[in-house]
Amino acid sequence: MDQGVKMAIVGGGAACVCYFHYLVKYLLQMRSPIRVEVTIFEKEKQVGPGLAYQKDYPILRLNRSSQSMSAIVENPSHFWSWYQDHILSRTHGKGEEFLPRSVFGQYLQEVFHQTMQLANREPLQAKIEYNEIVDVNKINRKIELITQSGESSLFDFVVLCTGHNPSRDPYQLKGTPRYNHQPYPLHETLESIRPDEEIGMIGSSLTAVDTALALQERKHQGRIRMFSRQGLLPSVRIKHAQPHQLRFLKREVVYQLVEKKGHVLLKELLRLLKQEFNSLEGSREMLLSQKTNGSTAMERLRQELSQSDTRVPWQSILTATNDIIEEMWHHLNAYDKRMFMERFHRYFMTIRNPMPIVNAERIYEMLRSGQLIVHKGLKSIRYWEGSFQVSLSEKSTLPITSDWIINATGPAQYIVEKQASRLVQTLLAKGFAVKDPFGGIQTNFNTGAVISRDGYADLHFRALGQITCGTYYYTGSLEMIAKRSRKLARDLSHMIEDKVMVEQGVC
Ligand SMILES: Cc1cc2nc3c(=O)[nH]c(=O)nc-3n(C[C@H](O)[C@H](O)[C@H](O)COP(=O)(O)OP(=O)(O)OC[C@H]3O[C@@H](n4cnc5c(N)ncnc54)[C@H](O)[C@@H]3O)c2cc1C
Repeated sequence: MDQGVKMAIVGGGAACVCYFHYLVKYLLQMRSPIRVEVTIFEKEKQVGPGLAYQKDYPILRLNRSSQSMSAIVENPSHFWSWYQDHILSRTHGKGEEFLPRSVFGQYLQEVFHQTMQLANREPLQAKIEYNEIVDVNKINRKIELITQSGESSLFDFVVLCTGHNPSRDPYQLKGTPRYNHQPYPLHETLESIRPDEEIGMIGSSLTAVDTALALQERKHQGRIRMFSRQGLLPSVRIKHAQPHQLRFLKREVVYQLVEKKGHVLLKELLRLLKQEFNSLEGSREMLLSQKTNGSTAMERLRQELSQSDTRVPWQSILTATNDIIEEMWHHLNAYDKRMFMERFHRYFMTIRNPMPIVNAERIYEMLRSGQLIVHKGLKSIRYWEGSFQVSLSEKSTLPITSDWIINATGPAQYIVEKQASRLVQTLLAKGFAVKDPFGGIQTNFNTGAVISRDGYADLHFRALGQITCGTYYYTGSLEMIAKRSRKLARDLSHMIEDKVMVEQGVC
């Protein structure tokens, strides 16, 4: 027997926890004598919570019902059961529908801990290295990873679970005093802000909502402004979202269209989606009413809140598309992908990732009291003599002054080399990865293998999570991450088995 197989997982957030769980499960199921050593590299101090589920204000909630968040695909209530057994029973609380994200982070730590226990049974072995991977080399058929502190190790397989692309810096403010480029954890970011100061945020999506809620939690008195191009807040999650069974936009229908021409057109998908909405009475009207031109963010939010009790589960139609969204995106032609990104992506995300009603109600109260204002038409921001001047496209409006600017644009879709992590910069510079024109780095659709500059999809080098958003489009939900992790783990465990059989001359 050779020295076995060495695998590295780079990044220890939710994607790592899900992938590691499935990898260990499949390897143990195979009952093969192969020795597999897994090393997890995480640059922060813990594995599990990552960016989204780290310790922070409890007001930062899950944006999906706690009863449907799970790292285990086959058991959608896995988190909810864990919460009931470990937290609810101790606190005698009543169990909220949208729990604090940090509670989900605790759950991820627990899933990881349990997997580690399983993973340290012969012939498996797993360890954590708290270090950042900053460089990569490919030596013969091995991948060398180099940490920030200069240690290097060779691996047969590497899975990138590095999480979110850093936010864009659209107004080149990085390094400016009183500008915060990355707001999480908010309990640290907001610490230096005085309660009476004027806060400006770039963006009006979920990150901006989190920031406004955290400021309110801190009893902030000063004005809070969200500046964005379209001034759109996320939709409000409706109360009675029962699962929807797709009747028109089905996998087999999409594949029939693909068979004819080799791809599918956006207008064909939109037609099917329209049919889907028409089949559920009132749902199309609900969807269209979300985009009332001319109305203010506050008016739209009021209208949405008044509709949140609807029995028309229009959002469930969008949720149901999760099962085929990756394939739809994959088979769209490049022209239509570009058009979608330019014309629909932003709006789609505001309705695709709605905020919990409890948060929406608070935001509405902040808007009504005048403490929070959502401005559209953001044109420029510059720092001048100790404060920020924000210009809007409305000609009659004078620049607005802010004491602080918080970048709440969230993770960027596209990689900008200068702003990318050291690891991504190195991968691009060495040609081990290339940027995807629709976001992240290019990966093979079927395998998640990272594609190099010469077009080679390296099956020993895979990626998961937002860095693959150009390939899979919708990577910003735990459900999608868990599903892809399971697929990748199954695939790699088979590959490990095959590799050893070949080396041992069994086949
Ligand atoms: C603020 C926020 C809230 C969200 N809320 C929800 C929600 O409520 N429900 C839902 O379904 N989805 C939500 N999502 C989407 C999705 O579930 C999360 O994005 C998910 O946590 C992504 O996990 P990840 O492991 O890919 O990334 P991350 O959580 O970012 O983890 C990546 C990890 O890799 C580490 N790392 C990065 N580079 C290196 C390196 N070079 N070397 C070593 N370590 C490295 C980082 O330190 C980090 O710990 C949210 C996303 C965000 C950003």
